[in-house]
Amino acid sequence: MDFKLSEEHEMIRQSVRNFAEGVLAPGVVDRDEKEYFDRNTFDQMGQLGLTGIPFAENYSGAGMDYVAYAIAVEELGRVDPSAADTLSTHVSLGSWPILAYGSEEQKQKFLVPMAQGIKQGGFGLTESNAGSDALAMSCKADPDGDSYVLNGTKIFITNAGSADVYVVFARTGPKELRSKAFSAFIVEKGTPGFTFGKFEKKMGLRGTQNCDLVFEDCRIPKENLLGKEGEGFKIAMQTLDGGRIGIAAQSVG
Ligand SMILES: Cc1cc2nc3c(=O)[nH]c(=O)nc-3n(C[C@H](O)[C@H](O)[C@H](O)COP(=O)(O)OP(=O)(O)OC[C@H]3O[C@@H](n4cnc5c(N)ncnc54)[C@H](O)[C@@H]3O)c2cc1C
Repeated sequence: MDFKLSEEHEMIRQSVRNFAEGVLAPGVVDRDEKEYFDRNTFDQMGQLGLTGIPFAENYSGAGMDYVAYAIAVEELGRVDPSAADTLSTHVSLGSWPILAYGSEEQKQKFLVPMAQGIKQGGFGLTESNAGSDALAMSCKADPDGDSYVLNGTKIFITNAGSADVYVVFARTGPKELRSKAFSAFIVEKGTPGFTFGKFEKKMGLRGTQNCDLVFEDCRIPKENLLGKEGEGFKIAMQTLDGGRIGIAAQSVG
């Protein structure tokens, strides 16, 4: 097996290294010490084409492979682990499930601006009583006319507050359905009934933003159901499988 990187991979490494050292490095200590996320860093990653790096060009992605994506995250992580975390959460957790399970309409509406770096993505699965045991989640979505009504709180969510588009998981069926009792939804920042809770103070990755997503009778249009009703747990687990590529690349960097 040939482990040599292609010319394209070496080019992406050099270009992200230049960006990380030239643009991110000057502010990295300040962001970490004062514990704040700067949306400009995300916007600049978008201008460089990193926010859609592994997505097809017809969805405004860069059309590169996952090796290129991992190299980009490594290079960001080498200089600014928070920027690497912000990007990999956006790509792997916020955008990928829309690529994999979204309708063509959802991809055009959400994935395209996310790949362009115009909209930032987040992923809401964890709850105070549902971490490793995600099946214990109690956030629920009740169908009502043309909408689902979402109630519950997600915690520790990366990019929360800053991100514009969230893939959120909630119970839509009875306990007996076990893993098929959950569905995935695309929820936009600004939807009435959707607010942000307390911001986490962290020991590391202090330049990424983490906080609660709070849903109080939040109406989600039925067209924002991602995949089919009952597929949410499968979507969450598959998304986390891909997310591990980003986490590993951050750590290598
Ligand atoms: C920096 C950061 C960013 C995050 N970003 C997001 C995000 O964007 N979206 C999101 O949804 N979530 C996010 N999370 C939440 C993360 O996914 C959870 O922290 C994780 O699932 C673990 O859940 P928990 O913290 O409740 O720990 P627990 O599940 O309570 O685990 C605590 C400890 O117990 C161990 N443990 C758990 N179950 C068992 C068992 N059955 N047997 C033996 N040991 C066990 C675990 O290994 C761990 O060491 C983030 C967390 C952090 C720290």
